[in-house]
Amino acid sequence: MTATLDTTTDIVEETAAFLADTVRPQVDRYTRNEQMPDDVLSGVTKLGLWAPFLPPSVGGLGASWVTFGQLHMAIGRIDSSLRSILTAHSLVAESVRRWGSAAQKERWLPGLASGEQIASFCLTGNESGSASSVSDTYATSDGNGWVLSGTKKWTTSAQRSRLILVFADTPAGMTAFLVPRDTPGVSATPTFGMCGARANLLGEMHFDQVHLGPEAVLGPVGRAKAYVMTSALGVGRLSVAAGCVGIIEACLDLVVSYTKSRLVGNDRLLDKQLVRRKVSDMYCARRTGALLVEHAAHLRDTRASRAIEESWIAKYPISEAAYTAASHAVELLGANGCSSDYPAFRYLGDAAVMRIIEGTSHIQQDIIADFAEHEFGTSHIGTDARVVERGGR
Ligand SMILES: Cc1cc2nc3c(=O)[nH]c(=O)nc-3n(C[C@H](O)[C@H](O)[C@H](O)COP(=O)(O)OP(=O)(O)OC[C@H]3O[C@@H](n4cnc5c(N)ncnc54)[C@H](O)[C@@H]3O)c2cc1C
Repeated sequence: MTATLDTTTDIVEETAAFLADTVRPQVDRYTRNEQMPDDVLSGVTKLGLWAPFLPPSVGGLGASWVTFGQLHMAIGRIDSSLRSILTAHSLVAESVRRWGSAAQKERWLPGLASGEQIASFCLTGNESGSASSVSDTYATSDGNGWVLSGTKKWTTSAQRSRLILVFADTPAGMTAFLVPRDTPGVSATPTFGMCGARANLLGEMHFDQVHLGPEAVLGPVGRAKAYVMTSALGVGRLSVAAGCVGIIEACLDLVVSYTKSRLVGNDRLLDKQLVRRKVSDMYCARRTGALLVEHAAHLRDTRASRAIEESWIAKYPISEAAYTAASHAVELLGANGCSSDYPAFRYLGDAAVMRIIEGTSHIQQDIIADFAEHEFGTSHIGTDARVVERGGR
């Protein structure tokens, strides 16, 4: 049962208190141990943070996407693993809300709102990262339904999820399936030893001749790439961009407090010009990042056609800026930056992951160059520039 909060201000404030009291004191330890404690997940459930954008009629908070962005900034500032778990869950919850039949919504949305059905989003396979092809997972019709087989790598929450949204190849093209974790033939293997988001319950999902009824198909058969995948990853990029603003804020917190008290000779480290330049760059990146996230979220709230486009434009520069900020944090703390006594190195590992998930920076650059080609350059040479749909995410 999720708590009911009166206003969006309440949820942002309640979340900040939960992060300060419950998450922050233990995040370094549990990240090192690659575990996500139960009290953190139950706190998320109590606050209704699993999918706050779902309507109150199914147990959600009815929060706007702007509020979702604020929440994921606050969570990302303290723990990228937790934010990643919520990102993956949000992709699935929003996919069911957007593309589900009435029966699918009735069956799944209440559990997605409450967190009873922690969800995983399974797109990446052994041979299918940026290309978003799913040839290593396939489903064939068996007359009444489908038989699904294959393996998905790098699945956030795989160690714990109850509902899995799987993208598979079918004779008609890529199709999305809602697969309950307890379906015979479904299993998970934990993945350990990542450099970042280490407590995100990562794993590989295996599907061995999994029999599914026709009700498992989410959205149109054969069209999952253009429909379910595209809209879901728009939410993912918004969440990751917001989380990266949080990483930049965490780096600022650490760097400013450290360099203020660290003396070099008689001077504070913060008074050194080269240090001030880095701090000012981080500060500006945080401000512009927050504005980009708010803008992209607002476009989602108003159902503007550019909403998905703006999520690319937010995620790419903010994840790059988070990586730079985390690298500055490691550098400016000297040996302490390389030590587990300080969180700088955790931030760097987390930021490295953020440049890769929900579309790598290279893929984002490629897509954003398409936007540029579409918008500019025609006045001089008169080309009929069009945005072409790209294979990558
Ligand atoms: C911690 C973590 C959690 C994850 N969670 C999930 C999850 O929950 N669900 C899920 O489906 N996936 C998940 N992923 C996988 C992630 O989405 C992929 O790693 C990502 O899409 C990149 O794919 P890849 O690793 O196969 O890299 P590749 O696609 O092999 O790319 C390797 C390199 O080549 C570059 N490259 C690829 N294509 C091009 C191109 N056309 N032009 C220029 N450069 C290119 C890339 O930018 C990259 O630098 C997760 C990954 C990590 C690290």
